[in-house]
Amino acid sequence: MSCHAYVGRFAPSPSGPLHAGSLVAALASYLDARVHAGRWLLRIEDIDETRTVQGAAQDIIATLAALDMRSDGPVLVQSQRKARYQLARDRLGALAYPCGCSRKEIADSRVGTASDGAALYPGTCRHGLAPGKQARTLRLRVPDPGQAGELVQFEDRWLGPQAQHLAAEVGDFVLQRADGFWAYQLAVVVDDAEQGVTDIVRGADLLDSTARQIYLQGLLGYPTPRYLHVPLLMNETGEKFSKQNGAQALDLNQPLQALQQAAAFLGLDTGAARDREGFWALALTGWQARFGPR
Ligand code: GLU
Repeated sequence: MSCHAYVGRFAPSPSGPLHAGSLVAALASYLDARVHAGRWLLRIEDIDETRTVQGAAQDIIATLAALDMRSDGPVLVQSQRKARYQLARDRLGALAYPCGCSRKEIADSRVGTASDGAALYPGTCRHGLAPGKQARTLRLRVPDPGQAGELVQFEDRWLGPQAQHLAAEVGDFVLQRADGFWAYQLAVVVDDAEQGVTDIVRGADLLDSTARQIYLQGLLGYPTPRYLHVPLLMNETGEKFSKQNGAQALDLNQPLQALQQAAAFLGLDTGAARDREGFWALALTGWQARFGPR
């Protein structure tokens, strides 16, 4: 019996079918939940409805099931949870403020570059909209340099100690976009808390978002989960393997091979498995040895 009730999750965006890159994250989160005798929940992250592809959510769920990975509880769908995000926003009070700046205005202000490569927000609308300016987005105020909470530190179970200065590396970030959709950062924090998620296992492309999410968890009174970011599968040209750059859907005629490739990328040797049962036994043993409870 593990000492704490582990809840993990996999949270794909339905912008296309499951591919080899997203399978790596799905498999890692699933293995981690199983070796901790925990629950594994699926969540459909369709909060950015401009990217939703009809039928992709059902397709992803069916593909995961064909690979033996099924949610241990109801599948949460973000587009149905806007009232929850609004409630969280309300609890942030004046820490969240309307901003009227366009992308171009922010780029032109040249105060610096955020860790994700975007122009750092100069704080123009922190103290109210200038006369004649219309609210476009809603931003969250981050602590000033040197203020409590400005440096966010956490231990990543794969990558080790991490630290990010919110003011210098992120800036006041968007909670609600100009098109009205809630931002991923807010939705993911509310959903992880409301699903009781204790452990987040996901791709390293989200490492940079983690400090923002930990900061929001603190403001909303939520516990901070443990984090494990797995390496990202790259394509031949060294880009993230993703739907945006044309990753193929998985070949479900070869489910064992698809699982073995994802496991190999995670450093798990499952080559000796003859069938899926054998695969799961080897993959679980390998993951247990590296990340299992001791
Ligand atoms: N929906 C995100 C994606 O598909 C994952 C978010 C997360 O795991 O926190 O990239």
